[in-house]
Amino acid sequence: MASEHLPVKRRRTRTVTVGGVAIGGDHPIVVQSMTNTDTADPIATAIQVAQLAQAGSEIVRITVNTAEAAAAVPKIREQLLRMNMDVPLVGDFHFNGHKLLSEHPACAEALDKLRINPGNVGKGARRDEQFARIIEIACRYRKPVRIGVNWGSLDQDLLARIMDENARRTQPRDAVEVMREAMVASALESAAKAQEYGLPGDRIILSCKVSGVQDLIAIYRDLAARCDYPLHLGLTEAGMGSKGIVASTAALAVLLQEGIGDTIRVSLTPEPNGSRTQEVIVAQEILQTMGLRAFTPLVAACPGCGRTSSTYFQELAQEIQSYVRSQMPVWRSRYDGVENMTLAVMGCVVNGPGESKHANIGISLPGSGETPVAPVFVDGEKTVTLKGEGIAEEFKAIIDNYVASKYQRKGGRA
Ligand code: SF4
Repeated sequence: MASEHLPVKRRRTRTVTVGGVAIGGDHPIVVQSMTNTDTADPIATAIQVAQLAQAGSEIVRITVNTAEAAAAVPKIREQLLRMNMDVPLVGDFHFNGHKLLSEHPACAEALDKLRINPGNVGKGARRDEQFARIIEIACRYRKPVRIGVNWGSLDQDLLARIMDENARRTQPRDAVEVMREAMVASALESAAKAQEYGLPGDRIILSCKVSGVQDLIAIYRDLAARCDYPLHLGLTEAGMGSKGIVASTAALAVLLQEGIGDTIRVSLTPEPNGSRTQEVIVAQEILQTMGLRAFTPLVAACPGCGRTSSTYFQELAQEIQSYVRSQMPVWRSRYDGVENMTLAVMGCVVNGPGESKHANIGISLPGSGETPVAPVFVDGEKTVTLKGEGIAEEFKAIIDNYVASKYQRKGGRA
């Protein structure tokens, strides 16, 4: 489903361009991710950046925490170019960003955006000086900056000031409200300072990440009402597995539905040996299931119940979802609109035919006690009945034929 059909009215923001990717304005909400390799290892990092980009990450962030990491950044860029990947790279700087960027100009040049955490730029009198130094480098190399506040590293001087101001109020706000105000104030005051130091407003993106869903919603509503910078949305430290996915989705969905958020990242902790690309898939699925963007055909499947006699339909649903995901790089390059295709794999006759008719292509597998045949529906019409061992392969062939005949070939007719 295309975004123009949706009742979501996007908040009006400026547009910031990051390495050719436009964020904000009327542009589609951008999916981002972050590597967890040692940036000082350019090959391992370039490989993971490429994996994230191939999974659909439109911008990838890498930490730049040491001199070795800063020296590796241009090599990562070169390696990515050798791999034919031109995904925008963001450098994440904390504590020593001013020093690393000053001493490694090639690092600044190779990056497409700098992320600064105002709580980690420096302490006391040094803070302004070091912040100014980073902004000066961003201006020199014409790089946009994300001012990324995180409640785990909130500027303590600013928090103390806001607490003092609150204590002088006739009706002081509670501690949660004070913390939320400090987060927003940190982002807005840092953005104002960056503009004072010469960074144009259309090169600034803001974020205020917290790990509580209600805090995130309240903070971003406030931030959205008080500025027109594009906003990077994400629940920080979302966690592992279903908890991380549910918490991120709960928070992001509310804000996205209100038109708040121009780029998103889902900060999942990967399972041991799990793929880092899961955060990209979840981010895409949040946007796609909300109808805000389409990335890859999604498979609707029933949950199964006592009417399903085996796990076959679950296996088929999984196989078909993996199949369409694996085919997408090729389909995307050949066919327009294929990402909007809908598929259904259903477990029995109760909802199987009905749900299958709502999809572009659906299959209703036999439940327990039913004749072992699986009718296939294409654009609402029953076309063929599959049976036997080859159902999965035959269903995939039906999908392939549908894609080739239904979607306009890029630059020509289908
Ligand atoms: S479609 Fe059939 S198998 Fe699937 S949940 Fe409904 S009744 Fe159960």
